Amino acid sequence: MASVDNVTCPFCSLLCDDLTLRAQKNQLSVSANACRLARQGFSAPQPASKASIKGVPATTGQAVRAAAALMQKSRKPLIGGLGTDVNGIRAALQLAEKTDAALLHSQESQSLHNLKALQARGGITATLAEVKNRADVIIFIGNNVCGNYPRFIERFINAPHTLFAGQHRKLAYMGRPGRTELNGCDGHEPVVISGQGDEIAENLALLRALLSDGQLLDFGNIPAAKARKLEKVADLVRDAKYGVLVWNPAALPEDQADMVIGSAQDLLRDLNAKQRFAGLSLGGSNGGASWQCVATWQTGFPAAVDFNGGYPSGGGVHPADVDSLLWISGFTEAAPPALEVPTVILSPYRAGASDADVYIPTGVPGIDHAGTLFRTDGVISLPLKKLRESGAPAAAAVIGQVLSHITGAAG
Ligand code: SF4
Repeated sequence: MASVDNVTCPFCSLLCDDLTLRAQKNQLSVSANACRLARQGFSAPQPASKASIKGVPATTGQAVRAAAALMQKSRKPLIGGLGTDVNGIRAALQLAEKTDAALLHSQESQSLHNLKALQARGGITATLAEVKNRADVIIFIGNNVCGNYPRFIERFINAPHTLFAGQHRKLAYMGRPGRTELNGCDGHEPVVISGQGDEIAENLALLRALLSDGQLLDFGNIPAAKARKLEKVADLVRDAKYGVLVWNPAALPEDQADMVIGSAQDLLRDLNAKQRFAGLSLGGSNGGASWQCVATWQTGFPAAVDFNGGYPSGGGVHPADVDSLLWISGFTEAAPPALEVPTVILSPYRAGASDADVYIPTGVPGIDHAGTLFRTDGVISLPLKKLRESGAPAAAAVIGQVLSHITGAAG
């Protein structure tokens, strides 16, 4: 049984690069530093071996030609999901340019909350390395902020070795922590100001007012216990040498996310007049961070890019307007949305394959082929290893073949 060290895990955007895997007859299992998502992702069976056209088995060549014909005939194609690595995203952008397609990542609505706040106010951000090595006060904002980032607390809050931060970081939680989070934060005695719905935004606004006045607000209408906790959090903030607010758009009530993230950025701006405080948004799994980086450097737009006018625009994409869909899902078993348009699926998983017009199996980046992904903080890209010989091609290679069959496409 072969063992591989220092494996980068592609199953959330923390991209932990310390996993050890064992491989036996192409079946993988994580033997060190796993979380539930990694165990599930790495132990998934090998990708399907057969392409299909309308549910009928076909050769890959036939399926590629059918996908090219479908894309070329379409007047408003959508390339969606975008669950792939940097090369897959580059290829998707090339295909979009050639076919006047729009592109939409599966988690675009979440990243747009951050982008809106950034466009309106600017932003002050920290990297994961800064959180680990420098942060002495960390305030989580949202409900179960780290729920889909299972090793965040282990690797960045409870890290045994850090450059500057000690082991006694002070923590606060504005929202409802998950049970695993609370257990992980146990030694730090976190101050928890739990809140439902719009209470998170309200509590953040109270904290901001408390800190900007530097004196007690009239807490007449606020329960005494909550007022005491707000005072405690305000004291933590005032004493911080390097504080960080951590949020996750997916962990905020959808209708409150813009307001909460905007308030967090406003608070950071206020605080930085006197001290150092930064923000970290957890997000960008399923290739989302890579999509934002590559789309920005190739088109100038970080999201919802549309080539339908013959050039890239960032005006947004309306799935209801499209007349075909090419769905890429390399990391999760997510079926394409039900748009009732001709659909091509590129995925290791067969979710939706029997209903699709064309299904072409691809490999999982970081398992079936090597590649690169960007981490949640968007500043570091990490290499992915090829860990088994499944023969499943990268999405980038399949898109390249589709492109070669589209009239006028460069080789
Ligand atoms: S926390 Fe994320 S990157 Fe780290 S092992 Fe788990 S799924 Fe993989």
